[in-house]
Amino acid sequence: MRSWPNLTLPPALSKIDHKPLALFDSYRKSLVQIQDNEPSLYVCGITPYDATHLGHAATYISFDLIHRYLLMQGKNVTFVENITDIDDPLLERAARDNQAWEFLATSQIHLFRTDMAALRVLPPHHYQGVVESMSIIIELVQKHIGSGLTYALDGDIYLDLTKVDGALSSLPFPLKEALNIFRERGGDPDRHGKHHALDPLLWRARKGNDPSWPAKFGEGRPGWHVECVAIALSNTESGKRTSISLQGGGSDLIFPHHFMTAIQSKSLTEKEFAGAYVHAGMIGLDGEKMSKSRGNLVFVSKLLQAGIAPNVIRIALTLHHYQEDRMWSEGLLHRAQSLSSKIETALSRSEVAPTSQFIQRIADAMANNLDTPTAYLAIEQWCDETAHGSEGGSAGEISRALDSYLGLGY
Ligand code: ZN
Repeated sequence: MRSWPNLTLPPALSKIDHKPLALFDSYRKSLVQIQDNEPSLYVCGITPYDATHLGHAATYISFDLIHRYLLMQGKNVTFVENITDIDDPLLERAARDNQAWEFLATSQIHLFRTDMAALRVLPPHHYQGVVESMSIIIELVQKHIGSGLTYALDGDIYLDLTKVDGALSSLPFPLKEALNIFRERGGDPDRHGKHHALDPLLWRARKGNDPSWPAKFGEGRPGWHVECVAIALSNTESGKRTSISLQGGGSDLIFPHHFMTAIQSKSLTEKEFAGAYVHAGMIGLDGEKMSKSRGNLVFVSKLLQAGIAPNVIRIALTLHHYQEDRMWSEGLLHRAQSLSSKIETALSRSEVAPTSQFIQRIADAMANNLDTPTAYLAIEQWCDETAHGSEGGSAGEISRALDSYLGLGY
């Protein structure tokens, strides 16, 4: 699928030392380094029915920062993002609004592209929808069936976790908690006849008039996790230590989605799916969780229409650490606006404070698990020194660094 227009990043300054990028792995619960010279990143994309709220924006900006830092290190990055353009929530929303699901998906994907381009998020190299990937997904389900680790239940096909080595012993939560989360996030732990309550659905047999695709093992549509395994594996090269370097998404994907993706992939390839599993925190609104059911989603397009600059939205979403669950508020927006104005004022001066050590501090902060709060402290200090008459730096160097590492365009 078409993504959105590319941006050319300014080259890294040769005097900057780029330390290895260390990121927090949600399963290992420690920092891991992205060491591959040709890293492949797979980030779970949207289900196109409520794009693009600030939770989406915060997640994709976080992975954009990773993408940018790896490019600054001179690495040859492959970035893959999917679009879940067939799924229950999409069908339910389309039915509620009396729209064709294809129409709803297409319009929301278009809006997402526009928002991502406005926020200066680098486009993925492979932006792949589930519908257009159906043949590789069907092939993958067939491979699972061939592995002997699946079973059918009224035409639906499940992966039997009791037969997958290490699956049930590596749950990121105690079983009871895992079952609750699985149930909350679209799983069916209470279905009678499942071998294990957590067994993930690989293929859903056709029901009623729901959209479906023909397959040897029965007409239907894919389960949630298998689509990401198929799209990720179809974009990898063999011979690497792990199938991909990094799998990413919002922290609501830690379980079951990314856990099940990793288990399914490993059961087929016999190697670890990702070198790092990285997750961005959730965005709330004025003290409450931002959610569809509360109806308090804040949309990027609305903020842009209200005249909020993309730089300000990016700063507001990265003033706190990407892993933190954080709140969107007027106060946060004002802080971001005031920092953005301060940067503009400093950049417009004919003489500015020395720059290299500040750019090094920004780069070091980003290498340290995307420590954006520390990066902004360095920027503010440079602005203050510039305001106090310090000289000898290059406004162009700072401006290019703000673009390269933080995606801010001044
Ligand atoms: Zn996914």
